[in-house]
Amino acid sequence: MFVLKLKIILEMYVPHYEKPKRRLEQYRTPPEVAIEIAQLMDKHCSGSIVVDQGSGTGMISYALAFVTKHYIIGLEVDSDAVEAAHHSRLWSIIGNLDFVEADVNYPPIRRVDCIAQNPPFGIHRRGIDKIFLMRALDYNPDFIVSLHHYNSKSVKVLSSTCLERGYKPFLVKRIYFPIQAIYDTHRSKIYYIQVFILACGRYNEETR
Ligand code: SAH
Repeated sequence: MFVLKLKIILEMYVPHYEKPKRRLEQYRTPPEVAIEIAQLMDKHCSGSIVVDQGSGTGMISYALAFVTKHYIIGLEVDSDAVEAAHHSRLWSIIGNLDFVEADVNYPPIRRVDCIAQNPPFGIHRRGIDKIFLMRALDYNPDFIVSLHHYNSKSVKVLSSTCLERGYKPFLVKRIYFPIQAIYDTHRSKIYYIQVFILACGRYNEETR
């Protein structure tokens, strides 16, 4: 029941991108996916600070703030998206969340316990999703949950990135992610791409 209500609340009150920027591959995560990411974080993150890299208008950050007791920091490079996240009606009722305008390559904070993210899928800028994963690993966090475009190569590349850094990757599930026609290059109103939730934790820790 909580999940159903939360899904409706997030759908209603987390803004869509008003001025989406194609080069930044801005797509709002469906609320049910954001909730699933938050539930994984709630179960596996034993620390207290969770960063949402590329937080956009705040979908994953707000889901994390509702579902977990952690302190959430959304990092986002686009000032319009940060402004939209702040303007959500949820902002005034949520106390364990901040949004910071920042490039993930130049993080404004150093101490982070866990990372949740839906990075750009890397369709427009190839390899950007791997860069996000590497930046997440740079924090040496306890646990990472990350959403990626699915194909056999991406699973291999991203899993080896985790393994090389001493993290154990786990493919949680594959999902169809709706892509709304928000850019002029889109031909159909909505189409779906396959994505997967990747979780990884340090080798000596359980990831599931
Ligand atoms: N997390 C949001 C948005 C996902 S789309 C949601 O789940 O709804 C990916 C986001 O990453 C976009 O908002 C984009 O602006 C942001 N982004 C792209 N490059 C970035 C960078 N270098 N640093 C920070 N954010 C970035």
